[in-house]
Amino acid sequence: MSSSGPANLNSKHAWRELASRDLPKRSAAERVADFLEIHGLFDEETAREQASRCIQCPNPSCVSGCPLCNPIPQWMQLTAEGRFLEAAAVLGSVTNLAEVCTRLCPSDRLCEGTCILDSVGEPVAIQAIERFLSDYAFEHGLVDAATAPPNGYKVAVVGSGPGGMACADDLARKGCAVTIFDSDLVPGGLLVNGIPAFRLDRSIVHRRVELLQKLGVKFQLGVRLWEEVTLNSLRDEFNAVYLAQDWRTARLLDIPGADAPGVVPALTFLLQKNTAVPLDLPPLHVAGQRVLVIGGGNAAIDCLRTAIRCGAAQAIGLYRRSEAEMPCGRQEYQNAIEEGASFEFHVVPTAVRLEAGRVAGLRLIRTEPAVPGSPRLETPRTRPGSEFEVEGDWVIPALGFNPLPCLRTGGLELLQTNPWGGLRVDSFQATNLPGVFAGGDLTRGPSTVLEAVRDARRAAAQMLTWLSRSRTPESPKEKEF
Ligand SMILES: Cc1cc2nc3c(=O)[nH]c(=O)nc-3n(C[C@H](O)[C@H](O)[C@H](O)COP(=O)(O)OP(=O)(O)OC[C@H]3O[C@@H](n4cnc5c(N)ncnc54)[C@H](O)[C@@H]3O)c2cc1C
Ligand code: SF4
Repeated sequence: MSSSGPANLNSKHAWRELASRDLPKRSAAERVADFLEIHGLFDEETAREQASRCIQCPNPSCVSGCPLCNPIPQWMQLTAEGRFLEAAAVLGSVTNLAEVCTRLCPSDRLCEGTCILDSVGEPVAIQAIERFLSDYAFEHGLVDAATAPPNGYKVAVVGSGPGGMACADDLARKGCAVTIFDSDLVPGGLLVNGIPAFRLDRSIVHRRVELLQKLGVKFQLGVRLWEEVTLNSLRDEFNAVYLAQDWRTARLLDIPGADAPGVVPALTFLLQKNTAVPLDLPPLHVAGQRVLVIGGGNAAIDCLRTAIRCGAAQAIGLYRRSEAEMPCGRQEYQNAIEEGASFEFHVVPTAVRLEAGRVAGLRLIRTEPAVPGSPRLETPRTRPGSEFEVEGDWVIPALGFNPLPCLRTGGLELLQTNPWGGLRVDSFQATNLPGVFAGGDLTRGPSTVLEAVRDARRAAAQMLTWLSRSRTPESPKEKEF
């Protein structure tokens, strides 16, 4: 650990004197040749310097900008002083998946976007420092497999995505015997079955899974829940249940030709190109081809960058609003540009152009805001007479996801649902069934890793309270209300 740093580390004006630094990044030419992560880490000196730019606001807007209310100034101060393990411990107290959050959180809209320095210059490099600390914590044994003595409670967690893992981690550390069930053979949920490895290396997820195993968490993978195993049988066997599985469906491209060969949903494309598990899909060869991706979210950017890594001759993003209105992270957009993606803004597709029954391109029409200067939620209107065509061999709609209503079989029909059919939970993540809790995308619809982790940790805390009040260890059915 560094014992001393540059002279200006303690200066109140460090933010003026020190430029904000981005994480070191591999060159675009190098990174498009593989699926490895593109960023390196700050070294200790840079982490200290950058943390010293934080002016320790008395009412820190970065904290209110984070859904986890991360006490950012506290660990910034410790980092600036070189007390990295203490800083990492503070960080670890609010998120038990810091190594994932730091890679995937849309910080430009959350903590960094609300940092007071953003309005006068460059925000504090919160995400980069968080990544340094999360790595430091692992390297120095802070993230260990220490648990409380067994408390006799057995908990089932359904779904091994970030929500399921975060909940299992908290409960196992408190001495619960946790079993995670997943219908997939590979644990990790969308962290391994959606988000490309160049944004989140699979080793990061595997390391977390291994740590959970060391904590005593059992994984039952490839289990078709609600068919082989019902909610009632889980409740019979376990003292409490946390539901964190996903149900979603891709929004459809509703234009003529949308079902033609060559039109591929975003998640199908990402799965085939990013997972090691063989999929029951015809191969999607995009090498040397022109790939048109419709949408402006993270999934759209992931598809463009994946296509480029697979050798696409052109990867073109098509978005109905302006560049500034794209919902994807700014950094992801910038990375895509650097890697060779191009974009056409203010356009919507009107038809898939076909040749010999296969995709040959798209017909597009230009858009403009419904009311000039109107906010983003207004649907843009099309400009009559502005139709044009763009050539392409593949069309990938990345229009987001709609939540699917919760299944009404296998005992799930006993659970109350909200207006769109997702599971209804109270402010402690409890469903209407005693001992059954839920969170993440299942309750709020397609959302973010951060929200999944927040729900899971809130649920874990409440489950422990509920268990100690209403259940006797080893007797799941006792003390039923
Ligand atoms: C392409 C893409 C890019 C994204 N990028 C970002 C990003 O940059 N930042 C961000 O914060 N979020 C991003 N997200 C969203 C994020 O991945 C999700 O919000 C998050 O993974 C939700 O976590 P979860 O634990 O609720 O569910 P999931 O990660 O979806 O995990 C649910 C698990 O439940 C399992 N399951 C489903 N049904 C059953 C069943 N019947 N029985 C047992 N198991 C079952 C699934 O196999 C899966 O493993 C992205 C999503 C996609 C698709
Ligand atoms: S808003 Fe920015 S400067 Fe203020 S405490 Fe948070 S990180 Fe530091």
